[in-house]
Amino acid sequence: MSTALTALRDRIDAACAAAGRDRAAVRLLPVTKFHPASDIEILYGLGLREFGESREQEASEKVAQLRHLAHVRWEFIGRLQRNKAKSVARWADTVYSVDSDRLAAALDAGAAAALEAGQRTAPLRVLLQVSLDADPARGGVQEAELLALAERVAQGASLQLAGLMAIPPLDVEPDVAFARLARLHAALLTEHPQATELSAGMSNDLEAAIRHGSTCVRVGTALMGARPITSAQQRNLISHI
Ligand SMILES: *Cc1c(COP(=O)(O)O)cnc(C)c1O
Repeated sequence: MSTALTALRDRIDAACAAAGRDRAAVRLLPVTKFHPASDIEILYGLGLREFGESREQEASEKVAQLRHLAHVRWEFIGRLQRNKAKSVARWADTVYSVDSDRLAAALDAGAAAALEAGQRTAPLRVLLQVSLDADPARGGVQEAELLALAERVAQGASLQLAGLMAIPPLDVEPDVAFARLARLHAALLTEHPQATELSAGMSNDLEAAIRHGSTCVRVGTALMGARPITSAQQRNLISHI
C-alpha cells in the first residue's frame, strides 16, 4: 500500500501540474469499502486520517473497531437510505451523497440528536450528489432540482452545505461530464459561496476531474487494489452505491 500511495500521489501531483493548479487544493480521500479494518490501520500508519466508506453497516462496524485511532475523519460517500441516516450522523464528518430533501431532513435530525447526545461536536458537512445523466439508479439529484436542495441543506440547523459530488456516467467522456459538473458547481457557488468542495474523480478518471476543478478525488482501487469480491458482484454493487 505504501508503494501504491506514492504512485497515486505522483499521479495527483502530475495532474495538478498539468492543469496549472495548486497541489494543496486537491485532497486525496482513500476509499476503503470492502477492505478490512486492518487495512485502514495500515493506511493510518502511513499518515492518512480520512477514510471514505459507502455502506452504512460495514462502515459503522469499522468505526467501532477503530475507535482507538485518534483524529480520524470518516466520510460517507455511498447511497444512503433514510433509515440509516441516524447511524451515519453519529460518526460521519461529511456525507457526500445527499440527493433528496427527505434524506437531508433525516440527516439534519440525526445530526441534531448526535450533537445533543455529545456524539458529535460540529454540524454534519454535506455534499450534494448531482446526477450527470437521467439514470435514477446511480443516484444524484437532477440538475433542475439542485439549487432547491442546496437551499434545504443550507437551512438545516445541524447541517453545513460544503459542496458538490458526482460520479460520471459510464457512457460519457469524463472530460465532458466533469466540465458539466464544474458549471453546476459555479452556479451553486453564486448562491452558496461557502460550498467550495467539488468531489470528482476516482481511480480511472482523476486526471480529468483535476483538470475540471476537483478539490477531492475519491480513490479506492488504485490505492487498495481490487476490492475483495467478484467482478460480477462489483458491477451489481456499483449500480447501487
Ligand atoms: C468505490 C467508490 C469510489 C472509488 O472507486 P475506485 O474506482 O475504486 O477508485 C469513489 N466514489 C464512490 C462514490 C465509490 O463508491
